[in-house]
Amino acid sequence: MSEAAALPGQPRGGVLSGPATSRAVNVLAPNASPMTLDGTNTWIVAEPDSDLAVVIDPGPLDDTHLRAVIDTAERAGRRIALTLLTHGHPDHAEGAARFAELTRTKVRALDPALRLGDEGLTAGDVVTTGGLELRVVPTPGHTADSLSFHLPADRAVLTGDTILGRGTTVVAHPDGRLGDYLDSLRRLRSLTVDDGVHTVLPGHGPVLDDAQGAVEFYLAHRAHRLAQVETAVEAGHRTASEVVAQVYADVDRSLWPAAELSVLAQLEYLGEHGLI
Ligand SMILES: [Zn+2]
Repeated sequence: MSEAAALPGQPRGGVLSGPATSRAVNVLAPNASPMTLDGTNTWIVAEPDSDLAVVIDPGPLDDTHLRAVIDTAERAGRRIALTLLTHGHPDHAEGAARFAELTRTKVRALDPALRLGDEGLTAGDVVTTGGLELRVVPTPGHTADSLSFHLPADRAVLTGDTILGRGTTVVAHPDGRLGDYLDSLRRLRSLTVDDGVHTVLPGHGPVLDDAQGAVEFYLAHRAHRLAQVETAVEAGHRTASEVVAQVYADVDRSLWPAAELSVLAQLEYLGEHGLI
């Protein structure tokens, strides 16, 4: 779910569909829109010599797409053994139950309502399937249930909607909270600085080959927007829609409803910190 389809200055690169790292292959879902960019990235992740694969975010309920994911894994000689969700938005999770049925896999997610099977996902969990290692990183803010998955062997992180391959993401108020989101970005920054993560495998848009640059861009963008919202409020714009019209004048109007959610999250943050 994207707030801005294109902003200047962000890093770019990588593939939209197909292999992205040694262990991660993307199958792009056919649900492109202003909010989902080119469509949802469904990631198949596996150790190079393993016949077992993990799928992250099956995507929308679209049988053709779900079967394309299975076919892609099978063509590489792999069986899908587990399904994981970065968060519960329908463009990522709606197809999960059907996908689990087709693959006879369990679905693990932070939100118990999204799980199929007895295992959830919590901070610090390490998923090990067929020798693969995926570390669960809590990244709330876009939604309360947002997770990222650190793939240390490829120095990569799968970020769902926390960092997108293009534009910036929505802090989906009231479920998403800006303070949480900023903490999550700092957590991802420490993965790039302390753990050598280079590559962002996002939930939408192209792969980013400068993970630290992407995180720094997101942090700077958030600080800039927050200052703009504060200025708009000081100038007398009180409602979220008035603030959007001021602050997001450069963004396509089809994205204003999403921007309004981010503005509500920013107004809440500014209020909680005594800044307005
Ligand atoms: Zn989302």
